[in-house]
Amino acid sequence: MERYKENKIKVYNSLSKKKENFKPITEGYVGMYVCGPTVYSNAHLGNVRTFMFFDIVYRYLLHLGYKVRYVRNITDAGHLENDADEGEDRIAKKARIEKIEPMEVVQRYTVDFHNVLKNYNFLPPSIEPTATGHIVEQIEMIKEIIEKGLAYEVNGSVYFDVLEYNKNEHYGILSGRKVEDLIHNTRTLDGQSDKKNPQDFALWKKADERHIMRWPSPWSDGFPGWHLECSVMSTKYLGEQFDIHGGGMDLKFPHHECEIAQSKTCSGKTPVNYWMHTNMLLLNSQKMAKSTGNFILPNEILSGENDILPKAFAASVVRFFNLQANYRSILDFSGEALEASEKGHTKLMEAVNFLDKIAAGKISTFNVQEWENSCYDAMNDDFNTPILIANLFEAVKVINHIKEQNASLTAPDLFAFKKALNGFVFDILGLTNENSKDSSEKINGVVELLIKLRKEARENKDWALSDQIRDELIVLGIQLKDGKEGTTFSVN
Ligand SMILES: [Zn+2]
Repeated sequence: MERYKENKIKVYNSLSKKKENFKPITEGYVGMYVCGPTVYSNAHLGNVRTFMFFDIVYRYLLHLGYKVRYVRNITDAGHLENDADEGEDRIAKKARIEKIEPMEVVQRYTVDFHNVLKNYNFLPPSIEPTATGHIVEQIEMIKEIIEKGLAYEVNGSVYFDVLEYNKNEHYGILSGRKVEDLIHNTRTLDGQSDKKNPQDFALWKKADERHIMRWPSPWSDGFPGWHLECSVMSTKYLGEQFDIHGGGMDLKFPHHECEIAQSKTCSGKTPVNYWMHTNMLLLNSQKMAKSTGNFILPNEILSGENDILPKAFAASVVRFFNLQANYRSILDFSGEALEASEKGHTKLMEAVNFLDKIAAGKISTFNVQEWENSCYDAMNDDFNTPILIANLFEAVKVINHIKEQNASLTAPDLFAFKKALNGFVFDILGLTNENSKDSSEKINGVVELLIKLRKEARENKDWALSDQIRDELIVLGIQLKDGKEGTTFSVN
């Protein structure tokens, strides 16, 4: 039986602001959309936090036996410098400054983004669509919104009419804003904008002559507004209504609010059942900012090449640190906190490694099933990774008691314990046992060295030494095989 049948998840829905029972639209299937990065600079540590949390959601849903379609887009056009649809396209600006093509910017930072995710052991999403790959669909959606009377064209640009939409719907439903307040708080038009009202947002922008990222449309040669791509791609790959939409909380307004307005205008349906938002990440209790120097890149943490942290940290330690905090709390990243996590991570991995060496006892002094249930309870409660980790440390305690011969587990319990612990540590939390990877690399190196020495012994016709090396390795469970291509080995 699929595990999801006995594990009922509760999800904190940012829309209702409460925990709700998670019920997918189609039983056994989950559609999840997460707003991906705008690839105009290196992957940001704050983004890594967001994507890491949704990696956990994805991993856990798969673990429970759901068939998940996880869509995470790449924004490679249309994201302007500020939310009021002003300023340059971020990618075009970077291209101008670096004197390269916009698509070179996109390629460079998409590669960087994927590299970071690989280093931090992320599962790739099912689909990773790009904005530029969906221009035709975006134009179609704009036409539809114009037909419904909720968008207007001015001088080749098209804007969504927020006030008109708000007559029948609630623009601000997700972020808790009221249009009256928005009107009040937005500065008056300076005559530069074509918008009827300042809170309207762009669906299509006419490109000026210098703008290379441009496509023909019924209104002008131009490019789509940033919010549109997510409505288009989520609808295309997940349908008019889907289960989970995620992102950083800074995207709630205006980005996600605009997505709801666009999608609802076209389909007449509420597009998303569960909205999930991750909280922000601080660095040494301060906002991260390149301008103040309080800034670090995800890969600089791994290499140690930075002025912020005392040393390099393994990716799995950083992952562990991230997951020790609830995704809805602010996370304060610092060298001290990472060092504490490193100790915890080492303890956990030592226990996991030792579990392999434990022999079964006659009786069980620990209720494995009860422990396993509390691990599931933690994850079922809105993916509460800090509580799960606390439970994993209960397991560490038990393993240490067994080590000291103060506890024991029967063979079936030991098997169940190992399976569950490995499942939570490696499959669900995505941690890696880098020490053991390290030591297996060392063993390989030592065996290769012995093979070389044995070859030299044979060349010197020192058959006794050659046999001694082979036989003593067999005792250690390492089998040498001589072949035409040389000697290989296997470890039992
Ligand atoms: Zn988005």
